[in-house]
Amino acid sequence: MRVVIFGPQGAGKGTQAQRISKKTGAKHISTGDLVRAEIKSDSDLGKKIQDYNDRGDLVPDEIIIEMAKPYLAETDAWLLDGFPRNEAQAKALDDALEELGIGLDGAIAMEAPDDALVKRLSGRRTSEATGRIYHVEHDPPPEEDPGPFNQRKDDTEEAILHRLEVYYKHTEPLKDYYDERSILVSVDATKGIPEVTEDVLRAIGEDG
Ligand code: AMP
Repeated sequence: MRVVIFGPQGAGKGTQAQRISKKTGAKHISTGDLVRAEIKSDSDLGKKIQDYNDRGDLVPDEIIIEMAKPYLAETDAWLLDGFPRNEAQAKALDDALEELGIGLDGAIAMEAPDDALVKRLSGRRTSEATGRIYHVEHDPPPEEDPGPFNQRKDDTEEAILHRLEVYYKHTEPLKDYYDERSILVSVDATKGIPEVTEDVLRAIGEDG
């Protein structure tokens, strides 16, 4: 199983990718997590990409492609979360997969209206201890997760609105890109977390 998952920020792609990875054993590869880890490590690359991340802008294609590429050949079952984010990246992914002699089995587009997205993002918290993502109202952390629970730097209202603009301009056109290749699956992301997981698993034929 090799699939990409995309959608506007707050549609829950990170949450769903974690759940699907747990249920299917496919490796969850999140370019956003790779970006945040690089920034946290304080490396030269991290310093170079920090401003893009904090503003909610896309990191330049050549940098993100080099960051993602090594993971593609690591296992034969993965779920790419947050990559590709535009057509140039989608083409680079196709080229990299062709070089490896492998293909993409599905492209999942998560769909939700803007007001739901902003609401979800402003309540989002990530556990520093476990990396798990929670929502203060809809999915509060369990007692066994010690936290602390941090809000992402790019989850401010200004950055959220900017990231949505970037999504509609650059990422949403990927729906056509994958539809033309007959691997697009659209999922209603406004449903509850378990229902969305079931819908995605059914759509990619992993519902057992
Ligand atoms: P995410 O956690 O997927 O929302 O990603 C957080 C931030 O990391 C984005 O706002 C970008 O700055 C950067 N990023 C993650 N994936 C990509 C990508 N495929 N292309 C460019 N920038 C990315």
